[in-house]
Amino acid sequence: MAIARPIRMLGLAAICLWVFFLYQVFGPTKPAPESKIMDQEPLLDYTGEPEGSPLWRADKGYGPGAEGTNRINATLLSLVRNEEVEGMVQAMRDLERTWNSKFNYPWTFFNDVPFTEEFKTRTQAETKAECKYELIPKEHWDVPSWIDEELFQESAKILKEQDIQYASMKSYHQMCRWNSGLFYKHPALEHTQFYWRVEPKVHFFCHVDYDVFRYMQDNNKTYGFTINLYDAPQSIPTLWPETVKFLAQHPEYLHDQNSMPWLVDTERRPEHNMKANGYSTCHFWSNFEIADMAFWRSQAYEDYFNHLDRAGGFFYERWGDAPVHSIALGLFEDASKIHWFRDIGYQHIPYFNCPNSPKCSGCMTGRFTDGEAWLMKEDCRPNWFKYVGMG
Ligand code: GDP
Ligand code: MN
Repeated sequence: MAIARPIRMLGLAAICLWVFFLYQVFGPTKPAPESKIMDQEPLLDYTGEPEGSPLWRADKGYGPGAEGTNRINATLLSLVRNEEVEGMVQAMRDLERTWNSKFNYPWTFFNDVPFTEEFKTRTQAETKAECKYELIPKEHWDVPSWIDEELFQESAKILKEQDIQYASMKSYHQMCRWNSGLFYKHPALEHTQFYWRVEPKVHFFCHVDYDVFRYMQDNNKTYGFTINLYDAPQSIPTLWPETVKFLAQHPEYLHDQNSMPWLVDTERRPEHNMKANGYSTCHFWSNFEIADMAFWRSQAYEDYFNHLDRAGGFFYERWGDAPVHSIALGLFEDASKIHWFRDIGYQHIPYFNCPNSPKCSGCMTGRFTDGEAWLMKEDCRPNWFKYVGMG
């Protein structure tokens, strides 16, 4: 009898477990783990200026000195085509109005062909600050020698069948590679530390009255973003596997305070993680970046980029600079050095970062997209908040 009782208990426990299992599999559908309202909450909160060291505010008398002495070592940076001058002028107008007219940071424009006189005159007319127009060296833009043209064409066809945008446009692949591992090696940036990346046609909605570059420097930040987005897994099937190989060769590069759980999340969009072979595909949307180039110039990033470049995925797949930058930051950087610029209202079609603040106008608070409703699920900021935080 003394033995039979525990056995009966065990049997009962097994039955309970079995029933629980059946309920999980065949029971009523559960609500999504994070409700839409929870997701949107942080985006609807009142947004003030960031906390941290005293901000260098334009309206408190801080501005560029006579010789620009108060500015730190930084530039606004744009890779852009001559044909996009209209969109560039529009983006500049927004950023000058909301921010740069108070600080006058220089603009540096990059192109793989020389800028036209029209491009130069029209962009310079939008700012009091200095504009520089730089040609990208051929050896930075050209397709590397180890890329096989036939294989590129074959791969592009396959990507196209999977609806990967720009798959067969070689210059798009070149652009992604340049933005991933080459822009900061341009001689014109040799002595520059911070940059703010600006694309033609983007919008800025909020007045920002402090020096964001100074904020980055004073608070020891490496990277600032506004939007976190899922990528098309078909564009990067071997990016994560190559990353895992690289990490096995260089375990010393993995930072103690990394953002790995954010990179490998399987809960929110399991099918994305599966198709990308272990990477959630969640990334900082890199058409907006405010960052310290010291990170890209580090040995860890240099080795990582070279590994990826040799693997060929910038051409045989369509690896973007966004997932490449994001994975590197998530692995090799201290998560606390990555900053969400929640106070910078921003749009690159079709997504927004639209803060709740009287300083903002022209966008709807909390709105993520003005495109079709399904685009809502592309937002993965809630994952960043969940695993890393709001800071
Ligand atoms: P999307 O944002 O992914 O749709 O790509 P975009 O067409 O906006 O390109 C990203 C950035 O790279 C933009 O600033 C473009 O102006 C720039 N860009 C893309 N391709 C080229 C190119 O072949 N030459 C130059 N000079 N700029 C390019
Ligand atoms: Mn773009």
